[in-house]
Formats: sequence, C-alpha cells, structure tokens
Amino acid sequence: MTRKHLTYTEPSGWTSSGHCLEDRAAAERLRAATNLLGGRSAAARRTWSITECPGDDCGVQR
Ligand SMILES: [Zn+2]
Repeated sequence: MTRKHLTYTEPSGWTSSGHCLEDRAAAERLRAATNLLGGRSAAARRTWSITECPGDDCGVQR
C-alpha cells in the first residue's frame, strides 16, 4: 500500500479534511497546487502532513 493522506494544519490548530492520494508524488502535487491557490502568506503558515493510508476503506476523500 503506497497511497498517502495529505492534510494541513493552520496556526489556529484547524486541520484540513484531507485527501487520499495514489502516492507521495500525487500528494506533493496537490500540496503545491493548494499552496498556489492559497497564496504565499497562506502557504507559509500551513504545516503539511503526508501520512500512510491505512487501507481501502480509509474514508478519506479521493
Ligand atoms: Zn486513504
């Protein structure tokens, strides 16, 4: 299993709902795209997390 979960946390402690991506490269592409959309200041304060997907029924949007 090489799928990855991508989430980010804001300084307030709020964590994004997350995405389940096919692999780390896909997760990094989405991270880059999200940072572009949010703008530089938003990107700078986000803490990103890429973790292993636990399995087929993880319940995270794909
Ligand atoms: Zn998953």
